[in-house]
Amino acid sequence: MTVSASGPIDLTNKVAIVTGASRGIGQATCVALAREGAHIGVCDILPSPETVKKIRSMGQEVLEIQCDIRRKASIQSAVDQIIDSYGRIDILVNNAGILGDSSKQFEEYSEDEWDFLLQTNLRGVFLMTQAVWPYLKKQDGGKVICVGSIAGRIGGLLAGPHYCASKGGIHAFVKWAAKKGASLGIYVNGIAPGPIVTPMTTNEPYKDDMVPLGRLGQPEDIAEVVVFLASQASNFITGNIIDVNGGILMV
Ligand code: NDP
Repeated sequence: MTVSASGPIDLTNKVAIVTGASRGIGQATCVALAREGAHIGVCDILPSPETVKKIRSMGQEVLEIQCDIRRKASIQSAVDQIIDSYGRIDILVNNAGILGDSSKQFEEYSEDEWDFLLQTNLRGVFLMTQAVWPYLKKQDGGKVICVGSIAGRIGGLLAGPHYCASKGGIHAFVKWAAKKGASLGIYVNGIAPGPIVTPMTTNEPYKDDMVPLGRLGQPEDIAEVVVFLASQASNFITGNIIDVNGGILMV
């Protein structure tokens, strides 16, 4: 199939699922997508009352779903709830992730830590995308956006080995899925954020002067790139990882 040329950002009545939506980058992403007119399935392992309140106060529809991306049954239930409510899915934002311990010596990392983190960050992205894929296919396309990391590009600023490997894996998965999806109208892209001020990084020693633009990133810095990738403004971009890091990494 041939997809249409790029156009202005307009997500009116598009249906989006965002994982890890209760706070941080996920919450800002939900708010930005809702502002552009999308209906949002707000998914997180815990309830997301703050995100739901923010979206409702904008007069936009929202469905709150508790979903653990480590569990296939939980993911399927989330997708079923979206389909029951809206009948379609246009946008998937694979945002949920964990940082894990970044302070250890190499020898101290255990198999269990490695498995738990990879199961969340990498397998979760695979399972979510796989669950949504049949609907995107049936609808002649859609947009998948995966949140990777600068850690997956350069082996981490401060992150541990499991985190870096999970994010590098996401970047590779994005390209694989983009190739599979291209002839179906399914776009798959990633974003590689640099240090962003969220609950995940509260205890990390990031400083403004690490960043050429002179400040750490805010969740909105990522959310607005998600909006671009979720919209028809990016209709000639697939299989790409967009670096959003204030100039820390220039490639
Ligand atoms: P936060 O920790 O603030 O938010 C992550 C969200 O994911 C939380 O709401 C968390 O839920 C949720 N979550 C964790 N595990 C699961 C699970 N198994 N199923 C469903 N939801 C889950 O992180 P950020 O907003 O900072 O990060 C968002 C994404 O951006 C992550 O993928 C992260 O790796 C990536 N990123 C972040 C950077 C940063 O500097 N902040 C830099 C580069 C990438 P709960 O509230 O219950 O913990």
